[in-house]
Amino acid sequence: MTRKIIMAGNWKMHKTVGESVALAGQLNAALGDVTEREILVCPPFTALYAVAKALQGSSVQVGAQNLFPADEGAYTGETSPKMLLDVGCSYVILGHSERRQYFQESDQFINQKLKAALEHGLKPILCVGETLEQRGEGRQKTVVSMQVYRGLQDIPAEAMGQVAVAYEPIWAIGTGHTATPSQADEMHSAIRNNLSGLYGDEVAQDVCIMYGGSVKPGNVDDLMAQPEVDGALVGGASLDADSFVRIVRFQS
Ligand code: PEP
Repeated sequence: MTRKIIMAGNWKMHKTVGESVALAGQLNAALGDVTEREILVCPPFTALYAVAKALQGSSVQVGAQNLFPADEGAYTGETSPKMLLDVGCSYVILGHSERRQYFQESDQFINQKLKAALEHGLKPILCVGETLEQRGEGRQKTVVSMQVYRGLQDIPAEAMGQVAVAYEPIWAIGTGHTATPSQADEMHSAIRNNLSGLYGDEVAQDVCIMYGGSVKPGNVDDLMAQPEVDGALVGGASLDADSFVRIVRFQS
């Protein structure tokens, strides 16, 4: 099996339904026929249904930015995996650093979400990454490997074909400070080693490890040229069609 490439846009809390559908239409026109790379947009919850409808039949897929690990129930304000499938999602971003930071999401809770996603056939993207302080102390690999081990606890090897990991150093998200290509490659290689330890080399080699943190048209080619970088999770630069299209069409 060859490692798949995933180029994903995380729209975070941006765009109304109308703006989301307009952007999805532009992306579909420019990228709707690309099949050699998986392309994904993750609009806000309010726009998921409309964007999925606008992208029906397109190779641009739709993902959510979070889920709650239950089928239904008294969980005010939350969204279940079933509901995400119902509106047309195939992917879900889990454990984004903004959720870890602002909503105190623990590795254990993120692990429950991963299991819930997989049980329902949604493909999770597990986000991991260290703070600037942790990097300053030389602890980046320890911190990230703990997030990997805890996030993937009890996830069997057979499920790993559905899981992607996104390495997103917190100091690079939305700051304009991108990890250098070699910093990214070194961390991806460490994550690949963690996966090998858990699942063996063959399974680990096939897991898509994406990089996220101020990916832009001007740096994507160098990042994607790294042997261990298999994709990108893009925040700010995914909100503009021209910029995201250029990122998806990176040249290596
Ligand atoms: C993100 O939200 O996952 C992200 C990487 O954001 P940005 O590209 O804006 O740094």
